[in-house]
Amino acid sequence: MIKTEKSAQLYAQARDVMPGGVSSPVRAFRGVGGDPLFIARGEGPYLYDVDGNRYVDYVMSWGPLVLGHAHPAIVEATQQQATCGTSYGAPTELEIQLAELVIELMPSVEMVRFVNSGTEATMSALRLARAYTQRNKIIKFEGCYHGHADMLLVQAGSGVATLGLPDSPGVPPGATQDTLTAPYNDLEAVRALFEQFSDEIAAVIVEPVAGNMGVVPPVDGFLPGLRVLTEQHGTVLIFDEVMTGFRVALGGAQERYGVLPDLTAFGKVIGGGLPVGAYGGQKAIMEQVAPAGSMYQAGTLSGNPLAMAAGLATLRTITEPGVFQRVVDVATAVRETVNAEAAAASIPVQTAQVGTMFGLFFNDHPVANYAEVKGSDTDRYARFFHAMLEQGVYFAPSAFEAAFAALPHDGPALDQTVAAIKTVLQRL
Ligand SMILES: *Cc1c(COP(=O)(O)O)cnc(C)c1O
Repeated sequence: MIKTEKSAQLYAQARDVMPGGVSSPVRAFRGVGGDPLFIARGEGPYLYDVDGNRYVDYVMSWGPLVLGHAHPAIVEATQQQATCGTSYGAPTELEIQLAELVIELMPSVEMVRFVNSGTEATMSALRLARAYTQRNKIIKFEGCYHGHADMLLVQAGSGVATLGLPDSPGVPPGATQDTLTAPYNDLEAVRALFEQFSDEIAAVIVEPVAGNMGVVPPVDGFLPGLRVLTEQHGTVLIFDEVMTGFRVALGGAQERYGVLPDLTAFGKVIGGGLPVGAYGGQKAIMEQVAPAGSMYQAGTLSGNPLAMAAGLATLRTITEPGVFQRVVDVATAVRETVNAEAAAASIPVQTAQVGTMFGLFFNDHPVANYAEVKGSDTDRYARFFHAMLEQGVYFAPSAFEAAFAALPHDGPALDQTVAAIKTVLQRL
């Protein structure tokens, strides 16, 4: 048994001063049981907890750390910027550089606005879509998570699912009355909504690869079908690439699947572990944003120079020749090990991988939507999670979250992971 006395002590202390002892719900381990680990530091592929245990980390701050912990390029860029000040509330050249890099990588994006989180990015993109179309209704998909804005807390996937909360109290009915939902990967359901509300729908927002109910890739035809339907109805198509951006391909899902949305939301990797989000799209739409246009959206710390420096260092490094592919290869190796060892142990498992993100479900059947995802064996996942921890490998503390490969996994950390999976699945 690993010793976690200090974590337990801090957890007790934390619960006294913060709800549930955490700053974001899924961190509390409710989905797998047991107490959360308090982290002292991260280095490369590893997390070190306050009791001195070391874990190979596949949570990677829930996606942002595609270069791993404390990558030298990010440390140097942020240290250098910090000596020049951490925030000015005035424009900087760093913002232009990051914007230009995002525009270069993302096929549909001509202009971006920086914000501070994925939540802000999707919320603002939806406001913009509503302003642009002068319509109110939006369509989202069951099991997709787009942050915690009121209008989006409907059928919102992992965090909420893990806690077994249907919808959050405190969200007034008025806030969600214009939010329509459809099952993920179900184009017919979307078509039916468009028939019913033909010229009232401002936007369709989708995770182009679902990553907040575990990893569920789009079926053939789903994303192109959404593109056709939204175009027919004058509706704005929003890809929420907060998780998939710079992860399923350098140009995100839009590059990988060749479908160009009107607007895209970014977060996670774009900030390299600092709080950044962004939304972007064609100039015709983006120029509606204040002060170029009349749709109001602002932020005291938006475009923060420290965060821009971290984002730039991340994107510049991950786009160096061969680097991204090395991260993909890590994800492939882990997924293939899970498949092989589960088969050898006759454990029913479904795995999915798109680029550098991957996931596993203990499930007899393939999963393509939230209803199917929910049929997975969460008790078995909890046993898997704790057994992997014992082997020094940290997967997400919930059966409905993605796993994230990072550059420094490539090496001894990967070898340790492969050995751990073998040991654990034989006894699961
Ligand atoms: C994480 C996530 C968000 C929310 O981003 P925050 O930075 O946590 O607000 C939104 N959409 C998707 C697809 C995400 O994975």
